[in-house]
Amino acid sequence: MSHALLTELRELLGPAHVLTDGDLSAWERDWRKRYHGKALAVVRPGSTEEVAAVVQACGLHDVSIVPQGGNTGLVGGGVPDASGRQVLLSLSRMNRVRAIDPANLTMTVDAGCILQQAQQAADDAGLLFPLSLAAEGSCTLGGNLSTNAGGTQVLRYGNARELCLGLEVVTATGEVWDGLSGLRKDNTGYDLRDLFIGSEGTLGIITGATLKLYPRPVGRRTALAAAQGLPQAVALLELARRHLDAGLTGFEVMSAFSLQLVGKHFPQIPNPFPTAPWSILLELVASDDGQAQTALESMLELALEQGLIDDAVVAESLAQSHALWHLRESISLAQSEEGLNIKHDISLPVSAIPAFVAQTDAALQARVPGVRLVNFGHLGDGNLHYNVQAPEGDSASAFLAAHEEAFNALVYDAVCRFGGSISAEHGIGALKREQLPHYKSPVALRLMRQIKSALDPLGRLNPNRVL
Ligand code: FAD
Repeated sequence: MSHALLTELRELLGPAHVLTDGDLSAWERDWRKRYHGKALAVVRPGSTEEVAAVVQACGLHDVSIVPQGGNTGLVGGGVPDASGRQVLLSLSRMNRVRAIDPANLTMTVDAGCILQQAQQAADDAGLLFPLSLAAEGSCTLGGNLSTNAGGTQVLRYGNARELCLGLEVVTATGEVWDGLSGLRKDNTGYDLRDLFIGSEGTLGIITGATLKLYPRPVGRRTALAAAQGLPQAVALLELARRHLDAGLTGFEVMSAFSLQLVGKHFPQIPNPFPTAPWSILLELVASDDGQAQTALESMLELALEQGLIDDAVVAESLAQSHALWHLRESISLAQSEEGLNIKHDISLPVSAIPAFVAQTDAALQARVPGVRLVNFGHLGDGNLHYNVQAPEGDSASAFLAAHEEAFNALVYDAVCRFGGSISAEHGIGALKREQLPHYKSPVALRLMRQIKSALDPLGRLNPNRVL
């Protein structure tokens, strides 16, 4: 049966695009190296029609499919299981920007288009595609939409869902739904687009998307501020929102330890405030650089007067601004250099964050003295990456084996008590699948299962992920 399917797939795509031999770990192992599966084959269709043909062929042979974009996902949702029975469908050959419509402020892309290429194409047209995350050089728009990615500009522009106007999707039966509309208003029934966004490849395979563009801001300034604690950071956010209004595009916090890890693994990246308990990265857009600089400086002066921050620097050039962002964007890499860790991508009401962190830090330290907390994230939209690293010198894998389950329960129970979510932007995938039923209401879970069985009744798309 598998042999017959492989022959059919080779006829459909050409032998070069159906990989079964050699080292397939680039597709079979996830970015964090936590999940390593075995695919029946890695297939690389080059068009929507080829994706549809692959889905139909797999359907006839009762073989399930795992869609994959850039394989930068952090919840193990885009790699096959260990059965050797799943086809890994990589969108990497579908990487074109199909069209840009400057008057409509939209861009239509293939799902396998790398985020950075899409940003560049918008920039070349004098426009802005604002989705931005540290994996942007590798992740794809299809992956971004399937995980409803967030990133550093959500405060101003929203997450991937808010940036998407239309989708093209290959359904579980291999039909093509052409919903590539560039309309900002379309109330013609249920919103199918919003069903597929964030569904992590379990409801359909996204093959194309029409995305919102924005006029490119002329002025932009980035600043780094040093603060004593999270209560001060939350107060600074309130002050910045009042004074900078919609111009505030980014507000990121980084704990001292998360930046120490960057310093340890990437000593060439300068840190202006190495002793600050918390560093805060702010970004402002305005009608010109001078205006952005003045507005940011006067807000930061006020914050200094009010005792919210101890010090601040405003980048005076694009290079300086990139250096500050580089610091923030290197934390995940520094963490993985340090070894496996327990990741919690959580969201909370911003006002609850200081109390959540104080209480949860204390509870974790009490359970395992010396445990190292790597806390950073998009404070502006209530999203923390609240990660836990083994005590210095301890084996990371032994630490995970001994404590991951208990730590997850402790952190997620606290998240729940504070009215938060156990997944802010990375999704559920394989990593949080077991936890979802504990933290999602039975009604919501039942509706999700009904949607899954309506759209993929035979469970062929990314089975055992999310649900
Ligand atoms: P993949 O990893 O290939 O797949 C992710 C999921 O989407 C899988 O379930 C897969 O089956 C499904 N999928 C992929 N393509 C398709 C498709 N075309 N159709 C249907 N399903 C599909 N995420 C954030 O949200 N914000 C961040 O700030 C952020 N920072 C990161 C920083 C680093 C250093 C890294 C490594 C990751 C970061 N991530 C972040 C996580 C990751 O980059 C995002 O989840 C991204 O959206 C995944 O895109 P991808 O193309 O790599 O998808």
